[in-house]
Amino acid sequence: MPMKTFPRPNVVLSNCLELSACRYNGQLVHDDFVKKLSQHANYIPVCPEVAIGLGVPRFPIRMVSQGKDVRLIQPATKSDLTEKMREFSTNFLSHLNDVDGFILKFRSPTCGLKDVRIYPKAEKSAAVGKAAGFFGGKVLEMFPGVAIEDEGRLRSLKIREHFLSKLFTHARFREVMKSGKIADLTGFHADCKFLLMAYSQKELKTLGNIAANRARQEIKGALTDYETHLHDAMATPSKRSSNINVFTHIFGYFSKQLSSKEKQFFLETVQLYREGRVPFTSALGLLKGWAIRFQDEYLMRQAFFNPFPVDLVEWTDAGRPIEL
Ligand code: SF4
Repeated sequence: MPMKTFPRPNVVLSNCLELSACRYNGQLVHDDFVKKLSQHANYIPVCPEVAIGLGVPRFPIRMVSQGKDVRLIQPATKSDLTEKMREFSTNFLSHLNDVDGFILKFRSPTCGLKDVRIYPKAEKSAAVGKAAGFFGGKVLEMFPGVAIEDEGRLRSLKIREHFLSKLFTHARFREVMKSGKIADLTGFHADCKFLLMAYSQKELKTLGNIAANRARQEIKGALTDYETHLHDAMATPSKRSSNINVFTHIFGYFSKQLSSKEKQFFLETVQLYREGRVPFTSALGLLKGWAIRFQDEYLMRQAFFNPFPVDLVEWTDAGRPIEL
């Protein structure tokens, strides 16, 4: 299979992840995935707490519930940082262009995307709820379609693979948006057909109609429509049953050329995958091998085989059993 080239996605990154010792306690968080991805992506670092004038080190801050509202409080100084943080977040995010994804620090009252503790008062107390942090929550609100994760969830292989597929597909589609050419849109759609089929059959059909410009609309409108449905298609990870459906479709391209033993072996491998006893890559590897052997150019270009750079493919889940 020819080496694929990928555009470099633009990723907004919590600055304390691998880049700067800007945490409240003056520490840096090491993260192997962030380090590795830096070879293939452009990072846009941000530390909202430093940006609103809190120094390093600084007294910790927490989310505190006040009636129906949640405030961002620094208990040691009794400062209410809510408005400052809201203003910074809206201002920073509304000035971003060409963003494909976000990797944020998990459980931070500022950068966290979910499960950040809310306390009933500034003083020591037990948490009464959980929510997104102030900056993280604004990211979710203003960038609903891009790849957004926190470094905690990215330790899961399945979540990481979904994040990377979405991130690199988004970066690739951004190039199509820039070119504004219908030929680039149809090319993109053709190359992503099986990847999109794995994500959503329904959206694949809609996207196919848009790429074929059946509604005969201006290219700008078609691209905007396509982007909306692409986001919808990739909103959640692909399911095992959908991956099997794609395996079966691709298998159909070769079934006449394969021996009965090869066919048998493929069907057994798919069955083992269905039962969760072998990884997704077992059946994928067989199909990839046949695409190369039978020199099927169309299949060899499919993003389903290489949704992101090959050296980002990993086989382990940090600290967890591997998810097949
Ligand atoms: S979690 Fe966010 S606000 Fe906190 S140190 Fe990291 S980048 Fe800064």
